[in-house]
Amino acid sequence: MGKIFGTNGVRGIINESFTVDMTLDIARAVGTILGPGKIAISRDSRMGGDMFQRAATAGLLSTGCSVIDIGPAPTPTLQFNIPLLGCVGGVVITASHNPPQFNGIKVMGSSGIEVTREIESKIEDVYFSKEFRIADWNEIGSATKDDLALRRYIDAIKSHVDIDLLKKRNLTVVVDGATSVGSLVTPILMRELGCKVVSINSQMDGMFPGRNPEPLPENLRDLSQTVVSVGADLGIAHDGDADRATFVDETGRILWGDQSFAIIAKHVLNKTPGSTLVTPVSSGRLIEDIVDETGATIDWTEVGSVVVSHRVVEINAELGGEENGGVFYPAHQSVRDGAMTAAQIADIMVQENKNLSALVSDLPIYFSTKQKVPVPAEKKDELLDSLLNITKDYETITLDGVKIVFDDGWILCRPSGTEPLWRCFAEAKTQDRANELCDLGVKHINQAISVT
Ligand code: MG
Repeated sequence: MGKIFGTNGVRGIINESFTVDMTLDIARAVGTILGPGKIAISRDSRMGGDMFQRAATAGLLSTGCSVIDIGPAPTPTLQFNIPLLGCVGGVVITASHNPPQFNGIKVMGSSGIEVTREIESKIEDVYFSKEFRIADWNEIGSATKDDLALRRYIDAIKSHVDIDLLKKRNLTVVVDGATSVGSLVTPILMRELGCKVVSINSQMDGMFPGRNPEPLPENLRDLSQTVVSVGADLGIAHDGDADRATFVDETGRILWGDQSFAIIAKHVLNKTPGSTLVTPVSSGRLIEDIVDETGATIDWTEVGSVVVSHRVVEINAELGGEENGGVFYPAHQSVRDGAMTAAQIADIMVQENKNLSALVSDLPIYFSTKQKVPVPAEKKDELLDSLLNITKDYETITLDGVKIVFDDGWILCRPSGTEPLWRCFAEAKTQDRANELCDLGVKHINQAISVT
């Protein structure tokens, strides 16, 4: 059967590769597999969000599911409310950090975590076979609204930080809401944590007039400048559906995602001796150093936030995280959560009584580089076996592509999910060594191409 789900839900260009008809049928398939029961629904600020949400609602109701509309909200807000509302699942209309012309759907199970690949493929089977459950006329579901979802979520986050201390310190914070749903939570949350809040890009606008919804350094210049010009202690930027947060220190410097993840990891892992941290093989030495320093254990996964969430639950880990700034704090919930991450960073700043640049300068420094290697489409999938053979004498982690581990660095070779190429990442203590390792990785990929 065909595939509609990518690594993070279904995504496409509005009214072209992602349409109302598709949304209706995806929702009918979701209702067929996850129902009967209540399904929570939400959306971000993207164009067509209201239209797609209505289509999804109609599809779900037709299968006999009831629908609870929590209004526009961050994806983690919906996820947090799914178990609280006793729902069998959730649907959010979002394309996360994709460019403005995209929209899509993420599907969650009863725990609030995105459904597994196995459930996705069941949904796909029903989607393509059109064997939807069709409720009898007197068993069609009803749609209701819940206005308290944002409040419950904000209160839950507040319960995990030291509010009294935060109020005493009275930080100044600039929030860049990406003109999307992060704007509905983070400015309010930070104000309630005693911060003076300045917000930019915090109107809901699916044209994304302020910046691209991906919180990459090149999209965060306005935030960086605002932090400096208002003399703020901290800048916070979300992606389109606010499951991630990127931070700016008081000097205007934009942190890498692995730095904020490492600051949180150090704090959380130090609190609980013998804890476990889950992270994909794409994470670097910085996180390994923190794990070693705190006496914790690292549990590697393949790349992808959904895999990390499920693994965090499976092994009851204290923390999960990704090098792109996604942090999973299961004491709150086992999914990436941008507002929780923002509150944690502010909390750590006041608990350690350090500004953010000082917290960053406590971390070891590594250098990284990456290259792309074009691979003939017919060889892209078979290449892995050859590469495993070529690299068999190294110390490797082979959960996802091949990660070659050296004493002073590492190389990760993985196929691209979407393009006819493989990617090679390398990290080391110096830039020269990182470049040298990356060249070695590329050499091995090319050797693998020639014998595949
Ligand atoms: Mg996102």
